Amino acid sequence: MKNKLMTLLAVSMLAFISSGSAQSQDKLDWLMGIKKIDVHMHIKSDQQYLIDFMDKWNFKFCNVATSARGFRDVNGQRENAKKLVKKYPRYYAWITTFDATTFEEEGWADRVIAQLKDDFENGALGVKVWKNIGMEIKKSNGEYLQLDDPVFTPVFEFIASRGKTLLAHMGEPIHAWMPTYFTKEGVGRNYWAKRPEYSFWDKPDKPSYSDILAARDHVIERHPNLRFVGAHLGSMEFDVDEMITRFEKYPNFAVEIGGRTRYFMWQARGKVYDFFTRYADRIMYGTDRGSSLVMTDEQKKETYEEMEYRNSLFMRYYATDGEIPWGNIIASDRPRPKPTYKVSTLDLPKDVLEKVFYKNAVRWFPGIDKDYK
Ligand SMILES: [Zn+2]
Repeated sequence: MKNKLMTLLAVSMLAFISSGSAQSQDKLDWLMGIKKIDVHMHIKSDQQYLIDFMDKWNFKFCNVATSARGFRDVNGQRENAKKLVKKYPRYYAWITTFDATTFEEEGWADRVIAQLKDDFENGALGVKVWKNIGMEIKKSNGEYLQLDDPVFTPVFEFIASRGKTLLAHMGEPIHAWMPTYFTKEGVGRNYWAKRPEYSFWDKPDKPSYSDILAARDHVIERHPNLRFVGAHLGSMEFDVDEMITRFEKYPNFAVEIGGRTRYFMWQARGKVYDFFTRYADRIMYGTDRGSSLVMTDEQKKETYEEMEYRNSLFMRYYATDGEIPWGNIIASDRPRPKPTYKVSTLDLPKDVLEKVFYKNAVRWFPGIDKDYK
């Protein structure tokens, strides 16, 4: 009863912010009601607001462990993820990761495989690799370690042999190879201003974006039995044609959106619509949100509202027929910037939406729908 009421409330909220046709509203209501999986979430702590969100919007979250900065160590994340999945099997699935920085130590691959074996026994559905491979970790000969280095071969073979999936966030975003922009006052305004170690602009000694993606593609090609999912649109967010080239070449390759919906809005609507309908089996929904380790009540409330705001905008973009206000409106700036232009929404067919929001996650991460009634 409570769930039903919550769904009704959420549906009426979507109705309030949607200016589309009655048919669009029906499709939004339908999308609100069906089972959905967000495959790219970072749940660092057990929070009631996440459960409330999943109840209201009918979602299940896949919690992704990562070597990315700002996260606790790999073992801490694994323990947290295992605990959450045990406590809330309806709400959480998880993807593990491993520490690649020690790859030159004796017995490294065996130790990683032993860890992954344990994680798979504890329900992990896949393994995430991060862009420190390609952009940060160096070999003792001074070269950057790339994903197609033979050191990873036994690990990838093991993942494939267990029927698990590799999730790879490599060399993304391409802006790392573009100049940092500054305000009139000389304040750096983007990610690289704060993280100069990932600004590869005008640094010829650093690997290029295309070298990193080529190494990634070698792995997809070399392991046809490994299901390979590219995080954040496989680092090819700027042009669907780049994804299409790989989909045509590699049947074992798919992508998840991972918070990159806005990049579709910046490409021609018809081209993006065709991409979704032609490759409907290869694209998964993900928002890259979650919870922090320690949160005040105010932060919990803000994060919850932020999740509702984003998901409602994205669902309108994918499902309805019309326009939505856009601009820099999901940036972390506060007060939140006002929309400055409109984008045409996609109005994808229901069968495509159901694949993107649910069925593909089940196909590419088998077991992800466990206990999701
Ligand atoms: Zn992420």
